[in-house]
Amino acid sequence: MSIIMKGSEVAAAMKEELLRGVGVLVQRGIAPQVGIVRVGGRPDDLAYERGARKKMEAVGIRCVVTELPEDISQVEFQQAFAAVNDDPATHGILLFRPLPKQLDEEPVRSMVNPWKDIDCMSPVNVAKVFSGDESGFAPCTPEAVMEVLAHYGIALKGKRVTVIGRSMVVGKPLAMLLLKQHATVTICHTRTVDLAGTCRSAEILIAAAGKAKMIAADFVAPGAVVVDVGINVDEAGNLCGDVDFDAVAPTAGSITPVPGGVGAVTSSVLAKHVVRAAGYLNGLI
Ligand code: NAD
Repeated sequence: MSIIMKGSEVAAAMKEELLRGVGVLVQRGIAPQVGIVRVGGRPDDLAYERGARKKMEAVGIRCVVTELPEDISQVEFQQAFAAVNDDPATHGILLFRPLPKQLDEEPVRSMVNPWKDIDCMSPVNVAKVFSGDESGFAPCTPEAVMEVLAHYGIALKGKRVTVIGRSMVVGKPLAMLLLKQHATVTICHTRTVDLAGTCRSAEILIAAAGKAKMIAADFVAPGAVVVDVGINVDEAGNLCGDVDFDAVAPTAGSITPVPGGVGAVTSSVLAKHVVRAAGYLNGLI
């Protein structure tokens, strides 16, 4: 039987670390604070906001939401973003994306203070991830995958790791984080020839394609570690990952469920970034 790698266990361990980190800041008179910028009220954004707020407040991080109208102009949006960016009490900024059609994200990517950029929007942080400079902030989801692997003691050095997906949000930065840990990384995508064979040759398989249950049992080598980043809805309307969990679990050595896997760790990574940002901005790191 495979080991089920649960996000809740990873998050619980991270909570201890977060409480310690917040304690150090508070002792020095620093109240860690995250600024969430939300345009409109998309249900996805509201759900993520609720989860992030709960996670932050549970460890003593203040959450301040700037809610902007759905039809806001580019100029007003940039002004509101700048106000959060320039606020000395705010240590981390989270902007919900995608933005409404009339708004261009590019200007705020270059505007955001890289030391407050807890979700890797700034080209500075993207460059740091790709150059292996750990002083930057990686996107939360790839880092959540790394937290899961570390928590369950999965060694990466010299291991054959296959990542399915090459987006800038998950696949590519994740490949860089794995490479930094000396894994031998293969990135697969829609044009990959013999996807199943490439996946089968992996000791660690990470799926971030966004295709419900596409990873069948014959994609997975016996005993392989399988991490499922996908969040999809199946034909029955239930939440599911990219991995056909019931078919793959008997073959895999360890596997993350969906829901309850990687997704349960991302807001803990966000909180970790706020604590680190508060440390940077106050000259403690
Ligand atoms: P995306 O659509 O931007 O990228 C998907 C990538 O997968 C592309 O590079 C594409 O080439 C590849 N791909 C798609 N179908 C494929 C196929 N059939 N075979 C091989 N490669 C294929 O998506 P994204 O933003 O990178 O997100 C990927 C998945 O992760 C989605 O399900 C998304 O909902 C989920 N996600 C989860 C979290 C989390 O917290 N767990 C966060 C962000 C995204």
